[in-house]
Amino acid sequence: MAALTTRRTLVGLMTGATLMAGALVPAAASAQEAQAINFRTPFDCGQVWNANTRTNHNPQASVDFQRDGAQGKNVHASASGTVSTVKDLGNTSYGKYIVIDHGSGWTTLYAHLDSFNTKVGAKVTTNSIIGKVGTTGGSTGPHLHYEQRSGGTVKRVVLNGLAIKYYGNTTVTSSTAC
Ligand SMILES: [Zn+2]
Repeated sequence: MAALTTRRTLVGLMTGATLMAGALVPAAASAQEAQAINFRTPFDCGQVWNANTRTNHNPQASVDFQRDGAQGKNVHASASGTVSTVKDLGNTSYGKYIVIDHGSGWTTLYAHLDSFNTKVGAKVTTNSIIGKVGTTGGSTGPHLHYEQRSGGTVKRVVLNGLAIKYYGNTTVTSSTAC
């Protein structure tokens, strides 16, 4: 009863505006962090993809982009940056993959590519096609495995300022390079 009274007193002293701001702090802070770089859906303008997330994905915050006819689709840089890795791990793990350094500690990773269309050191923008979707490495069907990392840690993916659903499926329509 005492605790309840204290809580009521505190709430009574706070204005509605203060309560709203307090409630929004965690979400606003994390969205702001992700939007330090405005990452875009890494596909041709107007293309529709399913962004799949699941608890047994490795790393867990990764996204698999899936759709019918995925094989050979263009993969764009999801923001401006410099290509830092273009590597082929053969039939294991990421297979053919690319990492782009966007500055401020942020990188993106694109895996299981069929082919490369860039090289280490290349300056890229969202207009740049860096490779083609494939099923190389430890992949069982054509899709794009995608990661957004900050300070080397894989973060939950935000595209065009919107958070992807964890865990489940989000339909995304690319507005990149439109
Ligand atoms: Zn994956």
